[in-house]
Amino acid sequence: MMNNFKQKLIRFMIGRYGMDEMYLGLFGVWFAITLVNAFVHSVFLNLLAFAALMWGLFRFLSRNHAKRRAENEKFLKLWRPVKNWLTFQRDRFRDRKTARYRKCKHCKAIVKLPNKKGKHTVRCPKCGERFDVRIL
Ligand SMILES: [Zn+2]
Repeated sequence: MMNNFKQKLIRFMIGRYGMDEMYLGLFGVWFAITLVNAFVHSVFLNLLAFAALMWGLFRFLSRNHAKRRAENEKFLKLWRPVKNWLTFQRDRFRDRKTARYRKCKHCKAIVKLPNKKGKHTVRCPKCGERFDVRIL
């Protein structure tokens, strides 16, 4: 009995696309909306969360791998800058006692500086130009 079910499930899953970053993203969207909706109790948000979950499931079970991979590429193009920004915010918070982050005025690179109060001239490690910073 159990074996039969397992075989059916394996046969059902053959050729399915499965998980990718976009799947996890949709799952994250579902989770975030559900969390918010625990307080808001909106029918619209409930439907939106359900739609995100169903979209994830649809992609998971899809047999059109080429199309799903193309979707995932588009998703990553949008998601990467957001992820980088989040990572930067986390690092900035983690290092808040020991370091300050400043943007180089010449090449726009983010430079990590020791948290020493006052006015300093620093040299950008990326482009080598000097610029003034003020750390409060
Ligand atoms: Zn620079």
